[in-house]
Amino acid sequence: MTSVTSPISSRLAGKVAMVTGGAQGIGAATVRRLISEGARVACIDLDDSRGFAEASGGDIFTFVGDVSDEAMLREAVLEVEQRWGRLDILVNNAGIDGKPALLADGDRQDFDRVIAVNLRAPWHAMKLVLPGMMARGGGSIVNIASAAALVGFETLSIYAASKAAVVGMTRSAALEYGRHKIRVNALCPGGVLTPLALSFMDEGTAADWADKHALKRFADPDEIAAVVAFLASDDASFITGAAIPVDGGMTAH
Ligand code: NAD
Repeated sequence: MTSVTSPISSRLAGKVAMVTGGAQGIGAATVRRLISEGARVACIDLDDSRGFAEASGGDIFTFVGDVSDEAMLREAVLEVEQRWGRLDILVNNAGIDGKPALLADGDRQDFDRVIAVNLRAPWHAMKLVLPGMMARGGGSIVNIASAAALVGFETLSIYAASKAAVVGMTRSAALEYGRHKIRVNALCPGGVLTPLALSFMDEGTAADWADKHALKRFADPDEIAAVVAFLASDDASFITGAAIPVDGGMTAH
């Protein structure tokens, strides 16, 4: 498996980041990467038993909670701003795929839950961090969308709709807040080897999924985290309102 090495160690020195869904998968890789580049990182996750220990060595603190809980999100943002005096980077990563089903077989509860976690929570987190970013003169928001925002995926229509909406929200927010030096981008991963991806594949379908990528393989979570860190950093100072495929060519068809 490819792994991304040699991060630029001080690119995010002095910055404070918040990462949702940081306990495993892409979120945990992002936490490790941001810390390795000098950031202090607050994580929010339903589960605090995984991933965090691996990030030790940097400044990190964690909230155990559900991102769709608006009061918890507000408390977490306030606490980060009080503890560290700033919040420069928000990574809206927590997401769920819902129950795979043909559209006509989907159920309302699943629809509401996927939208609450994948769309309403990033919207709310952005609402909470934007005033502080404006007051402090800038920031960077990275919303983890999906290749499913860009092309169709059978049995994932609710998930795809939620991720396409994240891209639309990202573009509009970029227009609204660019004048405040706040950049807002979406990252659209293809298949990434994480517990979420493994949950909807067996050995047979894994090969089919890998084949959908021009590179004929899945990404390692570190390959996504590397692009998140780039977008969060000043190296991406002229990138905003973008929906960037990091998908091994899955959407190049
Ligand atoms: P994962 O399931 O491996 O990890 C997600 C993390 O988010 C877990 O630690 C989980 O506990 C946490 N989480 C889930 N719901 C939460 C909630 N309501 N509140 C707080 N924390 C919550 O998933 P992953 O594969 O790392 O995916 C991360 C993001 O990347 C998601 O938004 C997903 O849609 C997106 N994505 C993943 C893939 C892929 O192939 N893995 C592809 C495209 C996009």
